[in-house]
Amino acid sequence: MAEKEINPVLPQDLPTGVELLHNPILNQGTAFNAEDRKLLGLCGLLPPKISTQEEQVERVMENFHKKPNDLEKYIYLMDLEDRNENLFYRVVMDNIEELMPIIYTPTVGQACVEYTRIFRRPRGLYISSDFRGRILECLSNWPYEDVRMIVVTDGERILGLGDQGANGMGIPVGKLSLYTACAGIHPATTLPITLDVGTNNEDLLNDSLYIGLSQNRITGEAYDEFIEEFIAAVQERFPRAVIQFEDFANHNAFRLLAKYRDRAGIFNDDIQGTASVTLAGLYASLRLTGGQLKDHKFLFLGAGEAGIGIADLFVAAMREEGGISEKKARERCLFVDSRGLVVSSRTDLAAHKLPYAHDLEPVDSLLDAVENYHPTALIGVSGQPQTFTQDVVEAMARINEKPIIFALSNPTSKAECSAEQAYRWSDGRAIFASGSPFPPVQFEGRTYVPGQGNNSYIFPGVGLGVITVAAKRVPDKMFMVAAKTLAMQVTEEDLALGRVYPPLIKIRTVSANIAAAVAEVAFEEGLTDEPRPYNLLAHVKDKMYQPNYVNFV
Ligand code: NAD
Repeated sequence: MAEKEINPVLPQDLPTGVELLHNPILNQGTAFNAEDRKLLGLCGLLPPKISTQEEQVERVMENFHKKPNDLEKYIYLMDLEDRNENLFYRVVMDNIEELMPIIYTPTVGQACVEYTRIFRRPRGLYISSDFRGRILECLSNWPYEDVRMIVVTDGERILGLGDQGANGMGIPVGKLSLYTACAGIHPATTLPITLDVGTNNEDLLNDSLYIGLSQNRITGEAYDEFIEEFIAAVQERFPRAVIQFEDFANHNAFRLLAKYRDRAGIFNDDIQGTASVTLAGLYASLRLTGGQLKDHKFLFLGAGEAGIGIADLFVAAMREEGGISEKKARERCLFVDSRGLVVSSRTDLAAHKLPYAHDLEPVDSLLDAVENYHPTALIGVSGQPQTFTQDVVEAMARINEKPIIFALSNPTSKAECSAEQAYRWSDGRAIFASGSPFPPVQFEGRTYVPGQGNNSYIFPGVGLGVITVAAKRVPDKMFMVAAKTLAMQVTEEDLALGRVYPPLIKIRTVSANIAAAVAEVAFEEGLTDEPRPYNLLAHVKDKMYQPNYVNFV
C-alpha cells in the first residue's frame, strides 16, 4: 500500500461515523474515499458517488453564484466553513479576488450589523465581562491546544460601523479566515475572540434578539482589569499565541498597544498593518516619482488609528533613510481632521494627535491645506466620501508632476475619491491607490489598473512569520520590512499599469516572502529561542497549510 500523508493536527482519537462528518476540520463530505468510508464507519452515511475536491469546489461555486445577494453569499460560505474547512479554504484560495470582499470587508460589515439575525452556530470564544475572574476557564474550554494566532475585538469600532458589541465577532472570524487563506496559517491554530464588555449601541440594547450582554460598556479601571486578566490568561493557556487587536475604539487602541507591545506578542492591524501596507504603496510609488520618503510631504485627511499609525511608521522609515531628525520627519506629516488642520494652537486634540500638532497657521479646509503647504502625497483615511474634490486633486496635480493620491477609506462608497476621478482630474498623472478595489479605468487611450492598499497583503504574512519562529514580540521593524518586501514584489509591469501593489492572486507568495523577512527580524532582534533554519523562506513555505484532503487510514 502506498504511504499516506498523515495530518499533524488529527486528534489521537479520530472520530468516526456521523461524528466525523460533523467535524469541520476532518470532514471531507462526498470526497471520503472507499477505504476511509469502510474503516471509519461511513458506509451508507454518504451518497455513493465519490467526488474529487475539484468537483466539490465546482458545486460550491455554482451554488454561490445563485445566491441573490452578498449577505446570502456570506452566510453560504460560513455554513461551508462550519461543515468542511478544507473545502472552504480551497474555494476561497482558488477564488480569492472574488471571495475576499464577501468573507471580509465590505460584506462582513453588513454581516456584523445583521449578526443577531443571521446567527446559526457559534464560532470562536465569547468572553463576556460577566466572566471576570474566570477568563482562563473560558480559554480552557477551547478544544484545540496549540493556538498560535488570536484575533480579538471588543466590538466598539467595527469597520466604519461603530459599536456593534458582541455582533463584532464576524470580524475576528473573517480576519482569521484570511490568515489561513492568504498565508496558510492552519485553521486549528487560530482562535477568534470577542470580549463582550457590553455595548452603548441603543439599537442593540433595545433588540430582544441581540446575542451579547444587554448592558452598557464597562469602562475605566474595570475595563483595564478585564483586558489585563485576558492577556495574562492567554499567556498562561496559549503561551505561543500572538494576539492581534482588531477594531477597538481609538481611545483604547493606542493605549492598549502602547501598554502591551513590550510585554506580550501583540499588534494592532488597524494601526500597524494599515501603516505597513500604505508604506509599501509609497515605496513602490517612489520608483515612479524618484527620491526618498523624506523628500515627500504627506497630508492626511483623518487623524484616527489608520492615519496616525501610518504617519508613525513613515517617520520610522524616514529616520531609517538617515539624515533627518524625528522632529523634522514628523513635520513632513500634516493632518486635517474634522476640525481642520492639526496645529499646536488647537486645544481640542486627542493625545494620539499631539505629536503631529505643528506650529503652523490654522487652516479650515483640505483645499487650503494643499494650497498653503504643498504636499506631494494625499492620504485619505477619514471615512468621508468625496472629500478629495476636483479642486483638491487639481491643486495636487498643479503642484506635483506625479501627485500621490491614496483614497484609503472603506468601503468603496466611503472612498475620498474614485480611481476614475483621480486620473481624470490629474490628467492621468496621479499615482492612485484605494482601500477597496476599483475597476480598471480607461483615460485618453490608456488603461490604468488602480492598486488596492489592502491590509491582507501584510497581516497574514506578518502573523505567519511571527508564529513560525515563535517570536515573543511584534516590533514595528517587522512592519517596516513587511512593507519593503511587499513593495519589492511590485513588478515593472504592475507599475506601468499604475498599480503600486501586486495582484491579489499572488498573495500566498507575497505572504511567504513577508513571513521570511519578518522571521529574520525575530532572529536579528533576539526575539526567538528557535534555531535559525538554513533556508528561512523554504522553512516558512513548508509550514504553510494547504487545504488538501488527507487519507485517514
Ligand atoms: P478612525 O475612526 O480611527 O479615524 C477617522 C478619522 O477621520 C478621525 O480622526 C476623524 O476625526 C477623522 N474625520 C472624520 N470626519 C472627517 C472629516 N470630515 N474631515 C477630516 N477628517 C475627518 O478610523 P480609522 O481606523 O483611522 O479608519 C479611517 C478610514 O480608513 C476608514 O474608512 C477605514 O476604512 C480606512 N482604512 C483603510 C485601510 C486600508 O485601506 N488598508 C486600513 C484601515 C483603515
